[in-house]
Amino acid sequence: MATDERRPPVLRRSPWPFRILLWVVLGTGVVSLATGAVAASGTGAPAAWRLILAAGLFALGDVCVLRLRFGHNSHSFSWSETAMVVGLVLVPGPWLRVVAPLAVAAAHAAARRPPLKIAFNAMSIATEAVLAAAVLAAVAPAGEPVTSPRLWAGLAAASLSLFVWGGVTVSAAVAFSQCLPLRQVYAKGLPVTALVWAGNTALGLLLVGLSGAPASLVAVPLVVLMLHLAYRTYLGAMNERDTWELLETASGELLRADARVVAGVVLDRVPALFRAEYVELLVTDGEAGEHAAVYRRDGHAVEEERGDAMTVAQATWLGALRRREIYQLVRAHAPGDEAADLAARGLEACAVAPLLSPRGCVGVLRIGFRGEVLLGERELQVLTTFANHLGSALHNTSLIEELRAQALRDPLTGLPNRSLMLDRLSQALKRMHRRPGGVAVLFCDVDRFKVVNDSLGHPAGDELLVAVARRLEQTVRVGDTATRFGGDEFVVVCEDIGDDGQAADVAGRLSACLAEPFRLRGDDIYVTVSIGVAVSDDPTEDPAALVRDADAAMYEAKAKGRSCCVVFDDPMRERAVARLEVENDLRRAIERGELRVHYQPNVSIDGLRVVGAEALVRWERPGRGLVSPLEFIALAEETGLIVPLGRFVLDEACRQLSAWLADGLVDDSFVVSVNLSAHQLRGPGVLEDVHQALRASGLDSRQLCIEVTESALVDQGGSSDTIRSIHAMGVRIAIDDFGTGYSALSYLHMLPVEILKIDRSFVGRLGLDPRDRALITGVIDLAHGLGLKVVAEGVERADQLGDLASMACDIAQGFYFAKPQAATAMQTLLRQEAGLGLRPTVDLREVAVQA
Ligand code: C2E
Ligand code: CA
Ligand code: CA
Repeated sequence: MATDERRPPVLRRSPWPFRILLWVVLGTGVVSLATGAVAASGTGAPAAWRLILAAGLFALGDVCVLRLRFGHNSHSFSWSETAMVVGLVLVPGPWLRVVAPLAVAAAHAAARRPPLKIAFNAMSIATEAVLAAAVLAAVAPAGEPVTSPRLWAGLAAASLSLFVWGGVTVSAAVAFSQCLPLRQVYAKGLPVTALVWAGNTALGLLLVGLSGAPASLVAVPLVVLMLHLAYRTYLGAMNERDTWELLETASGELLRADARVVAGVVLDRVPALFRAEYVELLVTDGEAGEHAAVYRRDGHAVEEERGDAMTVAQATWLGALRRREIYQLVRAHAPGDEAADLAARGLEACAVAPLLSPRGCVGVLRIGFRGEVLLGERELQVLTTFANHLGSALHNTSLIEELRAQALRDPLTGLPNRSLMLDRLSQALKRMHRRPGGVAVLFCDVDRFKVVNDSLGHPAGDELLVAVARRLEQTVRVGDTATRFGGDEFVVVCEDIGDDGQAADVAGRLSACLAEPFRLRGDDIYVTVSIGVAVSDDPTEDPAALVRDADAAMYEAKAKGRSCCVVFDDPMRERAVARLEVENDLRRAIERGELRVHYQPNVSIDGLRVVGAEALVRWERPGRGLVSPLEFIALAEETGLIVPLGRFVLDEACRQLSAWLADGLVDDSFVVSVNLSAHQLRGPGVLEDVHQALRASGLDSRQLCIEVTESALVDQGGSSDTIRSIHAMGVRIAIDDFGTGYSALSYLHMLPVEILKIDRSFVGRLGLDPRDRALITGVIDLAHGLGLKVVAEGVERADQLGDLASMACDIAQGFYFAKPQAATAMQTLLRQEAGLGLRPTVDLREVAVQA
């Protein structure tokens, strides 16, 4: 019989008709075997050689199979009809029903097949033996000689019955298990199974006929070999035809469809074409691969994903771009990334085909296998052809355009993004060749957007951005473009602008359109924007430079108190250039070690002892001398350079204090204070920086104090957590410049603050305005009530110190004692103080004047 391979049936997950069929086959087989055994025990046993020969034929016939694959299915053609025809002559029916299943079971067991498969195959042959024996008995009476035509006719009829029965059961098994129409499956297999059946039966009859003249049996192996070769060639050709037919159909289907349909065709057809268990189609908008759509099929599961090509299919995409032609990978020998990807998908091997089109590589087709499958030369050729068709099919679809468009839009607001804005801007600039009027760039930044985000949450923040985008879009004139630059920044590009004043009018309209409150989750949110405007009438202007000017103007608007518009002008350009220069130099200053840390002593007011020092950064700028932090800290914060700068000061201050400790200049009650800006507090690495500075210096964390301004604490929602974590390490926290910011004492007890530094502007007015005195007294009392120590900054005169002493202020810092000074000078001061050994009566004022 020609059979489909009797696959190991997976009972629990198979459809119910398949399970019924399976039980029917197993049931009839068991009955046939049992009744055969009973009947055989009643009849005389045939000669042992007959039994052995029949058993051998059945075993070989079922296990030495010709394995071929058609499309998605694997077919194995056995020699079982030959075995049956000969077996019917060799042993009587009842014995056949016992011998055949046992031989088949033994053969499959020896080939280590799964138990269910062994049972299924053995029971199928048992059923077939009953059927064949009955048909033979009906046509030819027992005892006919081997040369009798009647016997031959009987044998042929028996074999035919197997053909019909086997064809139906096997087709049904395939159809039921894969939910395909039975008739289609049966019809599809028919030509091949009929051919194999005819060959096998003829061979069986030949063997029977020749057994009359045993000498001629020597020719049998030759006949078998020839038949085998004939089958192979024929079936191979059929298979080939199937593949190309499928390829042609698929390629045809690819041509007429949109991208999603193309993807559908690929996912449907490719597994059948290559017997692959996994298919992945990645389509991108170009070789930069910014946006990609990925379609996958793993067994029956299909999924679609969109995103950045570098994240959705990084290893495959990069691999395809690197190699640019079809390649195959086996997990065990694949490069790291690709091996990891295969492992994650449960694959052992894959073949990857880049999809080339006139545009370059537009995607990748990957097919994967659960086993270590390598495609042969012919299959690679098929894959290449298919990939070429696919590449040009995709080229013709709109998906690539769609992905391109996506790459140019901001996904949240749908407005053009930065790259599309720059594109539009450069076109507008070019149009000025033909048209009078300038181009204006309006850089709009939503004021205090962070407050909305922090207080109402990010989803509400997003909602607000979308609403702002809609209003801007509705307000701009036709032909002008509202775009989202990023975060809470929007850029509007306007053409036909006569002068700066006209541009400022547009800015006014934009501000006005946002003036109406936004209704957000039950709250009315008022939005203002700071707008920077840059106008150009030079067609050769660099678009990016124009945007940068508008951005700089926007910063000025923020600095002017927000909610206003500033037009970029020449003085601003000069400042911007200078700023850029400082920024570049500062960046290098950190690397070149041009930063210095100076120390200003903190003096206890009751004992006039140096109890600590504040570390203050200086920049030794070549050719410019020692530059004050006032000139570069703000810039360092804007550019993020404050992070490495702050790390340097922190490390250096801790290192210096532990050196002084080692030299015996100070004791373990001495505290060094380091300033931390809001930007640093917001950054992710500050905890690690503090930790690292302490670890490297071996300093006790209680000897370090971190100074933060009130505004840094109030402005940022998350920074209070950072403050708590720093305090949890044992580090002291000081509020700097108290009185200049929010002066909200309410939150002081919510944070682990230990020290309060009164801003020098208050101290400076002591003795001038009695109200300041009252205010400072109040602050000191309140701070003491909360258990905080108070430091007065900017003490310049003896009378101020006297006042502060009378108000029970704890510590003073100021030029009256010492200016911030280099570590060496500070060392001298400390040595003198320690050497005098007269604490607490020493008058530090003298020491300070000398230093
Ligand atoms: P600050 O934290 O308030 O530092 C005290 C400032 O007051 C210092 O200015 C100091 O020289 C000055 N000062 C001290 N005593 C007197 C006085 O009696 N009279 C007057 N008129 N001024 C006095 P400096 O060193 O120029 O630092 C300015 C600001 O720069 C600091 O203000 C601080 O906010 C920032 N800064 C300095 N170093 C760093 C640093 O390493 N990191 C960070 N984030 N900021 C720093
Ligand atoms: Ca400070
Ligand atoms: Ca201060």
